[in-house]
Amino acid sequence: MSELMESLVVVTGASRGIGRAIALELGRGGARVIVGYRSAEQAAQEVVSQLPEGSVAVQADVSTPEGAEALLAAAEELGGMTALVNNAGISDDGLAMSMTDEQWSRVLDLNATGTFRMCRGALKQMFRERRGSIVNLVSVSGLRGNPGQANYAAAKAAVIGLTRTLAREMGRRSIRVNAVAPGPVETDMLGDLDERVLQGMKAAIPMRRLGTPEEIAPLVRFLVGPGSVYLTGQVIAVDGGMSC
Ligand code: NAP
Repeated sequence: MSELMESLVVVTGASRGIGRAIALELGRGGARVIVGYRSAEQAAQEVVSQLPEGSVAVQADVSTPEGAEALLAAAEELGGMTALVNNAGISDDGLAMSMTDEQWSRVLDLNATGTFRMCRGALKQMFRERRGSIVNLVSVSGLRGNPGQANYAAAKAAVIGLTRTLAREMGRRSIRVNAVAPGPVETDMLGDLDERVLQGMKAAIPMRRLGTPEEIAPLVRFLVGPGSVYLTGQVIAVDGGMSC
């Protein structure tokens, strides 16, 4: 099915992990994709090589105003984006009591402020067409908190508030804004967890296993596509039942 043939989608952090799986899934739907990445150029180009013609990789540090601007300008040059997937994210864990200002800001700057800047710029492009879809990657941590992740959980909770507010502001223009909240997913972000921590995580998940990037991506494709035109302002958990 090529339901996204007319779509130009910006996916931030699409060189690896969940973003890569999302870019490839959107490509299978026929979308042209702007593959955002921070440093992994070769990996980003490898993703582009599997996408429909007209897809490109764009280097941009989304935690800075200039980085967001570079991605927005690339989309404008290609005719304006029809959808945005704010996926780029980092974590920097530690107990709140000993968390540094730098640890706090680094995580908020990318996960929350970067997402806001990208949304703001995307809405200007979508506003003209009176259509568009934004999907923000948040986390179960942002829904219910998680020890050791004060910065990350706060950033994701901020994005949940942003998502619901933008959905209310933009509904009349048929611009939809939703969030996807994965539980633990097998990517570099989890790092090399020791077996005991991993077993504890799995025990907290009704399905008793971690998710894979390929299990997150189809929902994003659905939220970008025509099957979800009356769906906005929602936060959908894909977490093996962890948050139920
Ligand atoms: P990942 O494997 O660590 O990949 C991160 C991606 O973000 C990479 O493409 C990286 O680009 C890019 N990136 C990092 N810093 C950036 C910056 N400053 N500017 C632009 N791009 C940047 O992460 P992931 O696990 O796929 O996570 C993707 C999203 O899902 C994140 O928002 C994360 O919070 C969320 N999430 C993940 C999990 C999980 O368990 N993995 C669970 C819940 C939610 P380079 O390759 O160039 O460095």
